[in-house]
Amino acid sequence: MASPKPKSKDNKGAKPPEKKVEKMCYFCVQNLNDVSPRDTMTLRRFVSSFMKIAPRRRTGLCAAHQRKVSRAIKVSRELSLLPYTPQQ
Ligand SMILES: [Zn+2]
Repeated sequence: MASPKPKSKDNKGAKPPEKKVEKMCYFCVQNLNDVSPRDTMTLRRFVSSFMKIAPRRRTGLCAAHQRKVSRAIKVSRELSLLPYTPQQ
């Protein structure tokens, strides 16, 4: 006979309610339209420590600027301005 389990269906395996932090797109706030592949100081904000392009949920960019940033990072890598992998 199974022992009675505590009935706590609510919050079972659920994440705690997310705090709504309003994210503002970095480029929209600064009224910048284009993302330059040569502006590596800005692009470094949007890569992880493993030099991966950070997702939108992390960068807080709007969809249009996230596309431009990811493209600029890839061009920047080809121009050897940003590394593909973290430097040892
Ligand atoms: Zn934007």
